[in-house]
Amino acid sequence: MARVNEDFLRLASGYLFPEIARRTRAWQERNPDARLMRLGIGNTTEALPEVLVDAMKHKLDMLADRATYTGYGDEQGDTPLRQALADSYRSRYGVDLPLSAFFVSDGAKSDAANIQSIFSAGSIVAVQDPAYPVYVDSNVAGGHTGSYDEGTGSYGGIIYMPGTAANGFVAQPPKAHADLVYLCFPNNPTGAVATREQLRSFVDYALEERAIIIFDAAYSEYIETEGIPHSIYEIEGAEKCAIEINSFSKNAGFTGVRLGWTIVPETLSCDNAPAGTVHRLWNRRQTTFFNGASNIAQAGGLAALSDEGRAACLSLVDYYKGNARIIRSGLESIGLTCYGGVDSPYVWAACPGGMSSWEFFDFLLDKAHVVVTPGSGFGAAGEGYVRVSAYGHREDVEAAIASIKENLHV
Ligand code: PLP
Repeated sequence: MARVNEDFLRLASGYLFPEIARRTRAWQERNPDARLMRLGIGNTTEALPEVLVDAMKHKLDMLADRATYTGYGDEQGDTPLRQALADSYRSRYGVDLPLSAFFVSDGAKSDAANIQSIFSAGSIVAVQDPAYPVYVDSNVAGGHTGSYDEGTGSYGGIIYMPGTAANGFVAQPPKAHADLVYLCFPNNPTGAVATREQLRSFVDYALEERAIIIFDAAYSEYIETEGIPHSIYEIEGAEKCAIEINSFSKNAGFTGVRLGWTIVPETLSCDNAPAGTVHRLWNRRQTTFFNGASNIAQAGGLAALSDEGRAACLSLVDYYKGNARIIRSGLESIGLTCYGGVDSPYVWAACPGGMSSWEFFDFLLDKAHVVVTPGSGFGAAGEGYVRVSAYGHREDVEAAIASIKENLHV
């Protein structure tokens, strides 16, 4: 008799976004004529830069011609794209990584979810709290955790590293031993960034504990503060203990086009495997379960790394950061305590008057007709906050903030 994988059954139901949708729908039914404004999800809204569109159209024309048609591409991703990625790490961050370390994918989410599968079932996992939910959920489904505890909102067996106002939402490395340490900077949802010294403490921890850091840098292009590292490999020794995941989604507007990359250096070693093994296993995993990113998307990605493409992508990022500034200054002007929104598209706002995340969500929806994301949906330590997303058309963001300023008296 077929049996389902019971590790999947241990996943707590996808509560956050379905519940937001349910409450929003109910509100709309009660207020059919009111204008609803959404600052909830991290989905890009602005048109793709023309230089990227042209590159993808050109690739499509090549596919339409038998003489230039191509099918499956290079196993780890198109060589010119991987070369351009390696070049850009070298020229922009002073990070010298060989071409072989780069694996092109269809986005950061799948890599962030799949990477745990090449590590031992008994691996002890440490995650930031609050965090992008994929790190925890993929480890639950992968059998690396215990059961969900409704009372604490956490899974057994996971080491949670709380980000709080007191530590600027940058946790310390755990006191206990972990095998896999997930880090995301600039952070979703808090918008926090980690200094060189803070990242160094994690690299030191990983080298000492023979742990592997999985560093999600999906928002690295949003960093503007001088001296904040964009890549974990800016920290000496990280090439021996860290995997980095990144994406074209939030800097090039590729949330729908789908393209990302993961760096697995051959110098990475593991407790039961010499240097080269983790790289070899990721290569084996990807070439067995994945047949490469779309060649059209890869042509767009290559264009995004050209001088012209990069400039266009940076102005896209600037647009969203302009929205983030409007959000943060608008919320602060009515007395809310806010974090993030500087090196990040997310503003992390403290709920006023002791309200819980969901109470403040309902309050904003009722009074201002604005949808945000309750912080508690990202982990127990997110309770008491909401995440306000800068992804939206400028006029909609302005209208949402004007409505909050007009209708909220905190
Ligand atoms: N990592 C983080 C921290 C994210 O916030 C997101 C998307 O919101 C992703 C990864 C997913 O990126 P992609 O669109 O490349 O799958």
